[in-house]
Amino acid sequence: MAGRHFLFVPGPTHVPERIQRAMQRAMIDHRSSAFPELPLSILRDLAALFRTRSGRAFVFAATGTGMWEAALTNTLSPGDRVLALRYGQFCHNFAEAARRLGFRVEQIEIPWGEGADPARIEAALRADRAHEIQGVLVVHNETSTGVRSDIAAVRRAIDAAGHPALLYVDGVSSIGSLEFRMDDWGVDLAITGSQKGLMLPPGLGILGVSAKALARVETARSPRSYFDLRDQLKHNATGYFPYTPPLSLLFGLREALDMLLEEGLDAVAARHHRLGEGVRRAVRAWGLETCSRGPEWHSDTVTAVMTPPGVSGASVIDIAFKRYDLSLGGGLGDVAGKLFRIGHLGDVNELMLLGALAGVEMAMADAGIDVQLGSGVAAAASWYRESVPDVRAESDEPSAAKGERQRGAVART
Ligand SMILES: *Cc1c(COP(=O)(O)O)cnc(C)c1O
Repeated sequence: MAGRHFLFVPGPTHVPERIQRAMQRAMIDHRSSAFPELPLSILRDLAALFRTRSGRAFVFAATGTGMWEAALTNTLSPGDRVLALRYGQFCHNFAEAARRLGFRVEQIEIPWGEGADPARIEAALRADRAHEIQGVLVVHNETSTGVRSDIAAVRRAIDAAGHPALLYVDGVSSIGSLEFRMDDWGVDLAITGSQKGLMLPPGLGILGVSAKALARVETARSPRSYFDLRDQLKHNATGYFPYTPPLSLLFGLREALDMLLEEGLDAVAARHHRLGEGVRRAVRAWGLETCSRGPEWHSDTVTAVMTPPGVSGASVIDIAFKRYDLSLGGGLGDVAGKLFRIGHLGDVNELMLLGALAGVEMAMADAGIDVQLGSGVAAAASWYRESVPDVRAESDEPSAAKGERQRGAVART
Protein backbone atom coordinates (compact mmCIF):
# COMPACT_ATOMS: atom_id res chain seq x y z
CA MET A 1 0.00 0.00 0.00
CA ALA A 2 1.17 3.51 -0.74
CA GLY A 3 1.54 6.09 2.04
CA ARG A 4 2.10 5.56 5.71
CA HIS A 5 0.85 2.69 7.80
CA PHE A 6 -1.34 4.06 10.59
CA LEU A 7 -0.23 2.32 13.77
CA PHE A 8 -2.86 3.14 16.40
CA VAL A 9 -2.61 0.15 18.69
CA PRO A 10 -1.69 1.10 22.26
CA GLY A 11 1.82 -0.26 21.77
CA PRO A 12 4.08 -0.61 19.99
CA THR A 13 3.59 3.06 19.17
CA HIS A 14 4.90 5.21 16.35
CA VAL A 15 8.70 5.61 16.58
CA PRO A 16 9.58 9.21 15.66
CA GLU A 17 12.30 9.81 13.07
CA ARG A 18 14.49 11.48 15.66
CA ILE A 19 14.62 8.22 17.62
CA GLN A 20 15.01 6.08 14.50
CA ARG A 21 18.03 8.13 13.49
CA ALA A 22 19.54 7.99 16.98
CA MET A 23 19.36 4.20 16.84
CA GLN A 24 21.07 3.96 13.44
CA ARG A 25 24.57 3.76 14.82
CA ALA A 26 27.49 1.37 14.71
CA MET A 27 27.99 -0.76 17.80
CA ILE A 28 30.36 0.40 20.50
CA ASP A 29 32.31 -1.38 23.22
CA HIS A 30 30.12 -1.59 26.30
CA ARG A 31 33.22 -2.15 28.46
CA SER A 32 35.19 0.88 27.22
CA SER A 33 36.16 3.73 29.51
CA ALA A 34 33.91 6.08 27.49
CA PHE A 35 30.76 3.97 27.84
CA PRO A 36 29.52 4.89 31.36
CA GLU A 37 28.41 8.38 30.34
CA LEU A 38 25.46 6.93 28.42
CA PRO A 39 24.00 4.63 31.12
CA LEU A 40 24.66 7.11 33.91
CA SER A 41 22.76 9.87 32.08
CA ILE A 42 19.95 7.46 31.18
CA LEU A 43 19.52 6.16 34.74
CA ARG A 44 19.53 9.71 36.09
CA ASP A 45 16.89 10.89 33.60
CA LEU A 46 14.75 7.78 34.10
CA ALA A 47 14.57 8.69 37.80
CA ALA A 48 13.35 12.12 36.67
CA LEU A 49 10.77 10.44 34.43
CA PHE A 50 9.53 8.33 37.38
CA ARG A 51 9.72 11.48 39.52
CA THR A 52 11.79 9.87 42.20
CA ARG A 53 14.72 11.31 44.14
CA SER A 54 15.18 8.54 46.68
CA GLY A 55 14.50 5.61 44.33
CA ARG A 56 16.58 4.03 41.55
CA ALA A 57 15.91 3.15 37.93
CA PHE A 58 16.98 -0.11 36.26
CA VAL A 59 17.05 -1.10 32.58
CA PHE A 60 16.87 -4.65 31.20
CA ALA A 61 16.72 -6.27 27.80
CA ALA A 62 13.15 -7.47 28.39
CA THR A 63 9.61 -6.09 28.19
CA GLY A 64 7.01 -4.95 30.72
CA THR A 65 6.10 -8.58 31.43
CA GLY A 66 9.70 -9.25 32.45
CA MET A 67 9.55 -6.33 34.86
CA TRP A 68 6.60 -7.91 36.72
CA GLU A 69 8.93 -10.82 37.40
CA ALA A 70 11.88 -8.58 38.29
CA ALA A 71 9.74 -6.52 40.69
CA LEU A 72 8.24 -9.54 42.44
CA THR A 73 11.26 -11.84 42.72
CA ASN A 74 13.59 -9.12 43.97
CA THR A 75 11.33 -8.12 46.85
CA LEU A 76 9.40 -11.25 47.93
CA SER A 77 10.14 -14.71 49.31
CA PRO A 78 8.52 -17.99 48.21
CA GLY A 79 4.96 -18.33 49.51
CA ASP A 80 4.56 -14.64 50.36
CA ARG A 81 1.02 -13.27 50.14
CA VAL A 82 0.11 -10.40 47.79
CA LEU A 83 -3.15 -8.56 47.13
CA ALA A 84 -4.01 -8.06 43.45
CA LEU A 85 -6.84 -6.09 41.86
CA ARG A 86 -8.43 -7.46 38.70
CA TYR A 87 -10.16 -5.01 36.36
CA GLY A 88 -8.69 -5.96 33.00
CA GLN A 89 -6.41 -8.31 31.12
CA PHE A 90 -3.13 -6.78 32.28
CA CYS A 91 -4.27 -6.91 35.91
CA HIS A 92 -5.14 -10.55 35.28
CA ASN A 93 -1.75 -11.33 33.76
CA PHE A 94 0.15 -9.48 36.50
CA ALA A 95 -1.61 -11.58 39.19
CA GLU A 96 -1.04 -14.72 37.12
CA ALA A 97 2.69 -13.97 36.93
CA ALA A 98 2.77 -13.69 40.73
CA ARG A 99 0.95 -17.04 41.05
CA ARG A 100 3.31 -18.80 38.66
CA LEU A 101 6.29 -17.47 40.57
CA GLY A 102 5.00 -19.14 43.72
CA PHE A 103 3.34 -16.31 45.61
CA ARG A 104 -0.10 -16.61 47.20
CA VAL A 105 -2.41 -14.17 45.44
CA GLU A 106 -5.53 -12.77 47.02
CA GLN A 107 -7.62 -11.20 44.27
CA ILE A 108 -10.21 -8.43 44.38
CA GLU A 109 -12.59 -8.55 41.41
CA ILE A 110 -13.71 -5.21 40.01
CA PRO A 111 -16.04 -4.74 37.02
CA TRP A 112 -14.06 -4.20 33.80
CA GLY A 113 -14.54 -0.54 32.89
CA GLU A 114 -13.75 0.61 36.43
CA GLY A 115 -10.40 0.88 38.17
CA ALA A 116 -8.68 0.29 41.50
CA ASP A 117 -11.04 0.71 44.45
CA PRO A 118 -9.13 2.22 47.41
CA ALA A 119 -11.89 1.37 49.91
CA ARG A 120 -11.69 -2.34 49.13
CA ILE A 121 -7.89 -2.27 49.35
CA GLU A 122 -8.12 -0.60 52.75
CA ALA A 123 -10.67 -3.15 53.97
CA ALA A 124 -8.56 -6.11 52.79
CA LEU A 125 -5.45 -4.71 54.44
CA ARG A 126 -7.27 -3.92 57.70
CA ALA A 127 -8.47 -7.52 57.79
CA ASP A 128 -4.85 -8.68 57.53
CA ARG A 129 -4.02 -7.99 61.16
CA ALA A 130 -0.86 -10.08 61.16
CA HIS A 131 0.49 -8.04 58.21
CA GLU A 132 1.10 -11.16 56.15
CA ILE A 133 0.32 -9.41 52.86
CA GLN A 134 3.64 -8.22 51.49
CA GLY A 135 2.49 -6.32 48.42
CA VAL A 136 -0.43 -4.64 46.63
CA LEU A 137 -0.45 -5.10 42.83
CA VAL A 138 -2.24 -2.52 40.68
CA VAL A 139 -2.20 -1.44 37.05
CA HIS A 140 -2.12 2.35 36.71
CA ASN A 141 -3.52 2.45 33.19
CA GLU A 142 -5.41 -0.73 32.25
CA THR A 143 -4.70 -0.87 28.52
CA SER A 144 -7.33 -3.54 27.80
CA THR A 145 -10.24 -1.34 28.94
CA GLY A 146 -8.87 2.21 28.69
CA VAL A 147 -9.13 2.81 32.44
CA ARG A 148 -6.77 4.89 34.54
CA SER A 149 -6.70 4.42 38.30
CA ASP A 150 -5.87 6.92 41.04
CA ILE A 151 -2.58 5.64 42.46
CA ALA A 152 -2.31 8.43 45.06
CA ALA A 153 -5.65 7.21 46.45
CA VAL A 154 -4.36 3.62 46.54
CA ARG A 155 -1.36 4.77 48.59
CA ARG A 156 -3.67 6.69 50.96
CA ALA A 157 -5.73 3.52 51.44
CA ILE A 158 -2.64 1.46 52.31
CA ASP A 159 -1.50 4.12 54.77
CA ALA A 160 -4.99 4.50 56.26
CA ALA A 161 -4.92 0.79 57.04
CA GLY A 162 -1.52 1.30 58.68
CA HIS A 163 -0.21 -1.55 56.54
CA PRO A 164 3.47 -1.98 55.55
CA ALA A 165 2.83 -3.76 52.20
CA LEU A 166 4.84 -2.55 49.21
CA LEU A 167 2.96 -0.88 46.34
CA TYR A 168 3.65 -2.46 42.91
CA VAL A 169 2.41 -0.36 40.01
CA ASP A 170 2.30 -1.46 36.39
CA GLY A 171 2.78 1.81 34.51
CA VAL A 172 3.52 0.27 31.12
CA SER A 173 0.95 2.38 29.26
CA SER A 174 1.15 5.45 31.49
CA ILE A 175 4.76 6.26 32.37
CA GLY A 176 6.10 8.78 29.87
CA SER A 177 2.57 9.81 28.82
CA LEU A 178 0.37 10.39 31.87
CA GLU A 179 1.23 12.08 35.15
CA PHE A 180 3.21 9.59 37.23
CA ARG A 181 4.76 10.50 40.60
CA MET A 182 6.68 7.71 42.20
CA ASP A 183 7.77 9.54 45.36
CA ASP A 184 4.62 11.60 45.92
CA TRP A 185 2.37 8.57 45.44
CA GLY A 186 4.56 6.23 47.49
CA VAL A 187 5.05 3.78 44.63
CA ASP A 188 7.61 1.12 45.60
CA LEU A 189 7.96 -0.70 42.28
CA ALA A 190 7.21 1.16 39.04
CA ILE A 191 7.09 -1.05 35.97
CA THR A 192 7.33 -0.04 32.32
CA GLY A 193 8.67 -0.95 28.90
CA SER A 194 10.05 0.81 25.85
CA GLN A 195 7.34 0.51 23.18
CA LYS A 196 4.53 2.67 24.54
CA GLY A 197 4.97 6.17 25.98
CA LEU A 198 8.73 6.00 25.42
CA MET A 199 8.19 5.76 21.63
CA LEU A 200 10.85 3.07 21.15
CA PRO A 201 10.74 -0.37 19.58
CA PRO A 202 9.92 -3.18 22.04
CA GLY A 203 12.84 -4.71 23.90
CA LEU A 204 13.50 -2.75 27.08
CA GLY A 205 12.04 -3.42 30.50
CA ILE A 206 12.41 -0.46 32.84
CA LEU A 207 11.93 -0.61 36.59
CA GLY A 208 11.77 2.07 39.28
CA VAL A 209 12.54 0.87 42.81
CA SER A 210 11.94 2.92 45.98
CA ALA A 211 14.45 3.04 48.83
CA LYS A 212 12.08 0.91 50.93
CA ALA A 213 11.88 -1.74 48.19
CA LEU A 214 15.66 -1.63 47.65
CA ALA A 215 16.13 -2.67 51.28
CA ARG A 216 13.97 -5.76 50.60
CA VAL A 217 16.19 -6.76 47.65
CA GLU A 218 18.81 -7.88 50.17
CA THR A 219 16.43 -10.00 52.26
CA ALA A 220 14.05 -11.43 49.60
CA ARG A 221 14.61 -15.17 49.17
CA SER A 222 13.06 -15.77 45.74
CA PRO A 223 15.43 -17.40 43.28
CA ARG A 224 16.51 -14.98 40.58
CA SER A 225 19.42 -14.79 38.20
CA TYR A 226 19.06 -12.65 35.09
CA PHE A 227 16.80 -10.17 36.89
CA ASP A 228 18.83 -9.98 40.11
CA LEU A 229 18.98 -6.29 41.01
CA ARG A 230 22.04 -6.87 43.17
CA ASP A 231 24.11 -7.49 40.00
CA GLN A 232 22.66 -4.38 38.39
CA LEU A 233 23.35 -2.24 41.46
CA LYS A 234 26.95 -3.32 41.55
CA HIS A 235 27.62 -2.63 37.86
CA ASN A 236 25.32 0.38 37.36
CA ALA A 237 27.16 2.25 40.10
CA THR A 238 30.04 2.86 37.69
CA GLY A 239 27.90 3.09 34.54
CA TYR A 240 28.16 -0.51 33.35
CA PHE A 241 25.86 -3.52 33.06
CA PRO A 242 26.48 -7.06 34.33
CA TYR A 243 26.08 -8.35 30.74
CA THR A 244 25.77 -6.93 27.23
CA PRO A 245 23.06 -4.27 27.18
CA PRO A 246 20.83 -3.68 24.10
CA LEU A 247 22.94 -0.81 22.79
CA SER A 248 20.69 0.36 19.93
CA LEU A 249 17.75 0.65 22.30
CA LEU A 250 19.90 2.59 24.76
CA PHE A 251 20.82 5.06 22.00
CA GLY A 252 17.11 5.38 21.28
CA LEU A 253 16.20 5.71 24.95
CA ARG A 254 18.69 8.56 25.36
CA GLU A 255 16.92 10.40 22.52
CA ALA A 256 13.44 9.57 23.85
CA LEU A 257 14.31 10.98 27.27
CA ASP A 258 15.68 14.13 25.62
CA MET A 259 12.43 14.55 23.70
CA LEU A 260 10.21 14.05 26.76
CA LEU A 261 12.26 16.32 29.02
CA GLU A 262 12.50 19.03 26.34
CA GLU A 263 8.72 19.05 25.96
CA GLY A 264 8.40 18.88 29.77
CA LEU A 265 6.60 16.08 31.61
CA ASP A 266 3.64 18.31 32.52
CA ALA A 267 3.29 19.40 28.89
CA VAL A 268 3.48 15.77 27.75
CA ALA A 269 0.64 14.84 30.12
CA ALA A 270 -1.38 17.89 29.03
CA ARG A 271 -0.91 16.93 25.35
CA HIS A 272 -2.14 13.41 26.03
CA HIS A 273 -5.14 14.76 27.91
CA ARG A 274 -6.05 17.04 25.03
CA LEU A 275 -5.65 14.31 22.42
CA GLY A 276 -7.56 11.77 24.53
CA GLU A 277 -10.44 14.19 25.12
CA GLY A 278 -10.78 14.64 21.35
CA VAL A 279 -11.12 10.87 20.89
CA ARG A 280 -13.74 10.66 23.63
CA ARG A 281 -15.73 13.45 21.96
CA ALA A 282 -15.56 11.53 18.70
CA VAL A 283 -16.92 8.40 20.40
CA ARG A 284 -19.81 10.43 21.84
CA ALA A 285 -20.56 11.93 18.43
CA TRP A 286 -20.74 8.41 16.98
CA GLY A 287 -23.37 7.58 19.61
CA LEU A 288 -21.15 4.85 21.09
CA GLU A 289 -19.87 4.14 24.59
CA THR A 290 -16.37 3.73 25.94
CA CYS A 291 -15.58 0.67 28.03
CA SER A 292 -14.41 3.08 30.74
CA ARG A 293 -17.51 3.81 32.80
CA GLY A 294 -16.90 7.37 33.90
CA PRO A 295 -14.75 10.46 33.62
CA GLU A 296 -12.81 9.48 36.75
CA TRP A 297 -11.62 6.36 34.91
CA HIS A 298 -11.02 7.70 31.38
CA SER A 299 -7.52 7.01 30.10
CA ASP A 300 -5.69 9.67 28.13
CA THR A 301 -3.53 7.06 26.34
CA VAL A 302 -6.03 4.49 25.10
CA THR A 303 -9.77 4.50 24.40
CA ALA A 304 -11.74 1.26 24.21
CA VAL A 305 -14.89 1.71 22.09
CA MET A 306 -17.80 -0.70 22.67
CA THR A 307 -19.33 -1.93 19.43
CA PRO A 308 -23.14 -2.16 19.19
CA PRO A 309 -24.75 -5.60 19.71
CA GLY A 310 -24.36 -7.78 16.62
CA VAL A 311 -21.15 -6.14 15.42
CA SER A 312 -17.89 -7.64 16.57
CA GLY A 313 -15.03 -5.32 17.43
CA ALA A 314 -12.83 -7.80 15.57
CA SER A 315 -14.59 -7.07 12.26
CA VAL A 316 -13.95 -3.33 12.60
CA ILE A 317 -10.28 -4.06 13.30
CA ASP A 318 -9.98 -6.45 10.37
CA ILE A 319 -11.56 -4.02 7.89
CA ALA A 320 -9.50 -1.08 9.19
CA PHE A 321 -6.32 -3.07 8.66
CA LYS A 322 -7.12 -4.59 5.26
CA ARG A 323 -8.84 -1.66 3.58
CA TYR A 324 -7.29 1.38 5.22
CA ASP A 325 -3.89 0.22 6.47
CA LEU A 326 -4.91 1.26 10.00
CA SER A 327 -4.02 -0.90 13.01
CA LEU A 328 -6.37 -0.81 16.01
CA GLY A 329 -6.26 -2.82 19.22
CA GLY A 330 -8.61 -5.73 19.91
CA GLY A 331 -10.66 -6.81 22.89
CA LEU A 332 -8.77 -9.02 25.34
CA GLY A 333 -10.02 -11.57 27.86
CA ASP A 334 -13.50 -10.81 29.25
CA VAL A 335 -14.16 -8.14 26.59
CA ALA A 336 -12.88 -10.07 23.54
CA GLY A 337 -14.93 -9.17 20.45
CA LYS A 338 -16.96 -6.54 22.31
CA LEU A 339 -14.76 -3.55 21.58
CA PHE A 340 -11.85 -2.13 19.66
CA ARG A 341 -9.16 0.12 21.06
CA ILE A 342 -7.55 3.30 19.75
CA GLY A 343 -4.08 4.00 21.11
CA HIS A 344 -3.28 7.71 21.46
CA LEU A 345 0.05 7.76 23.24
CA GLY A 346 3.62 8.63 22.46
CA ASP A 347 4.58 10.53 19.32
CA VAL A 348 1.07 11.63 18.30
CA ASN A 349 -0.47 14.96 17.33
CA GLU A 350 -3.89 16.24 16.32
CA LEU A 351 -3.71 15.58 12.59
CA MET A 352 -2.37 12.04 12.98
CA LEU A 353 -5.25 11.30 15.31
CA LEU A 354 -7.87 12.93 13.05
CA GLY A 355 -6.62 10.71 10.22
CA ALA A 356 -6.97 7.65 12.42
CA LEU A 357 -10.47 8.70 13.53
CA ALA A 358 -11.50 9.09 9.86
CA GLY A 359 -10.24 5.55 9.24
CA VAL A 360 -12.17 4.26 12.26
CA GLU A 361 -15.35 5.86 10.94
CA MET A 362 -14.95 4.27 7.51
CA ALA A 363 -14.20 0.85 8.99
CA MET A 364 -17.18 1.07 11.36
CA ALA A 365 -19.52 2.05 8.51
CA ASP A 366 -18.15 -0.83 6.41
CA ALA A 367 -18.70 -3.23 9.34
CA GLY A 368 -22.38 -2.22 9.45
CA ILE A 369 -22.37 0.25 12.33
CA ASP A 370 -24.77 3.12 11.79
CA VAL A 371 -22.32 5.99 12.02
CA GLN A 372 -22.31 9.30 10.22
CA LEU A 373 -19.02 9.76 8.36
CA GLY A 374 -17.21 12.84 9.60
CA SER A 375 -19.20 13.17 12.82
CA GLY A 376 -16.43 12.02 15.16
CA VAL A 377 -13.72 13.78 13.18
CA ALA A 378 -15.71 17.05 13.39
CA ALA A 379 -16.23 16.71 17.14
CA ALA A 380 -12.53 16.03 17.75
CA ALA A 381 -11.42 18.78 15.35
CA SER A 382 -13.64 21.34 17.09
CA TRP A 383 -12.18 20.39 20.45
CA TYR A 384 -8.61 20.58 19.14
CA ARG A 385 -9.25 24.06 17.76
CA GLU A 386 -10.83 25.37 20.94
CA SER A 387 -8.18 23.84 23.21
CA VAL A 388 -5.02 24.90 21.35
CA PRO A 389 -2.31 25.48 23.97
CA ASP A 390 -1.59 29.21 24.45
CA VAL A 391 2.07 28.82 23.63
CA ARG A 392 1.26 28.03 20.01
CA ALA A 393 -1.58 30.48 19.55
CA GLU A 394 0.05 33.53 21.08
CA SER A 395 2.46 34.60 18.35
CA ASP A 396 2.90 34.56 14.61
CA GLU A 397 6.64 34.05 14.62
CA PRO A 398 7.83 31.50 12.07
CA SER A 399 7.30 28.08 13.59
CA ALA A 400 11.02 27.19 13.70
CA ALA A 401 11.80 30.23 15.85
CA LYS A 402 8.83 29.46 18.09
CA GLY A 403 10.02 25.89 18.52
CA GLU A 404 13.44 27.11 19.62
CA ARG A 405 11.93 29.49 22.12
CA GLN A 406 9.60 26.85 23.51
CA ARG A 407 12.41 24.37 23.91
CA GLY A 408 14.61 26.93 25.65
CA ALA A 409 11.82 27.91 28.02
CA VAL A 410 10.98 24.43 29.27
CA ALA A 411 12.85 23.64 32.45
CA ARG A 412 14.30 20.15 32.68
CA THR A 413 12.75 18.32 35.58
C1 LIG B 1 1.64 -3.63 27.12
C2 LIG B 1 1.38 -3.83 28.57
C3 LIG B 1 2.03 -4.83 29.32
C4 LIG B 1 2.89 -5.87 28.71
O1 LIG B 1 4.00 -5.39 28.16
P1 LIG B 1 4.89 -6.29 27.19
O2 LIG B 1 5.84 -5.29 26.69
O3 LIG B 1 3.99 -6.86 26.14
O4 LIG B 1 5.51 -7.34 28.04
C5 LIG B 1 1.80 -4.88 30.67
N1 LIG B 1 0.95 -4.02 31.27
C6 LIG B 1 0.30 -3.08 30.59
C7 LIG B 1 -0.63 -2.17 31.33
C8 LIG B 1 0.48 -2.95 29.22
O5 LIG B 1 -0.17 -2.00 28.54
